[in-house]
Amino acid sequence: MLYIVATPIGNLKDITLRALKVLKSVDLIACEDTRHTKILLNHYNIATPTTSYFQHNRLTKGEHILKLLKEGKGIALVSDAGTPGILDPGYHLINLAIINHIPMTFIPGPTAFIDALVLSGKPTHQFFFDGFLPNKSIARKNRLRELAGFKTTLVFYESCHRILSTLEDIREIFADKPIVCCRELSKKFEEIKRGAAGDILEEFKKQKPRGEFVLVV
Ligand code: SAM
Repeated sequence: MLYIVATPIGNLKDITLRALKVLKSVDLIACEDTRHTKILLNHYNIATPTTSYFQHNRLTKGEHILKLLKEGKGIALVSDAGTPGILDPGYHLINLAIINHIPMTFIPGPTAFIDALVLSGKPTHQFFFDGFLPNKSIARKNRLRELAGFKTTLVFYESCHRILSTLEDIREIFADKPIVCCRELSKKFEEIKRGAAGDILEEFKKQKPRGEFVLVV
């Protein structure tokens, strides 16, 4: 059985009883970064062996994990944070398991964009999650222009390195529309800023933005 296990996006207490039980009982945990996952495992005294499974070893390691699954082993798949498969390694292994008729289940838990969407107070009956916007400003603005035609809430992931330039582009395309910028969700310095992109940008210019971000437009 392949167990796709969501893990905390910050606060180590955001893990379900079922997730802990699965992580304790499987034969192997496939982790995006074993050192990162060890912090969680040590916190809960889980001694299950781990192996790395990430973007660049996904083909070879995927085959190895598939072989173990075919032998009847129980394997948990986790990423560094949140839900595997949501902009994290998982997609390839999940599809490999599907093609090979390996039974699988999902142990749900945090996903950063769901936290942000709920906290935003924006309509949630229809929303469009666009992951990370393009790196380059021209491509990013083009994508934002396309999305501006959508009549739904828009949700984006962003890093501290690009948050200022992305906010500049959102200001250009969406003008004064109120947006929500969620930083470091569930962590010690969690912060929710609400307002026009230009106003949030000015605040961040006074204090350099750090951490991880979700933008809701
Ligand atoms: N699999 C993850 C999930 O379920 O949300 C997403 C992984 S993606 C590689 C990493 C991005 O998720 C970050 O750049 C940030 O945009 C967002 N993110 C993850 N944790 C976050 C947090 N605690 N606060 C705000 N954003 C977060």
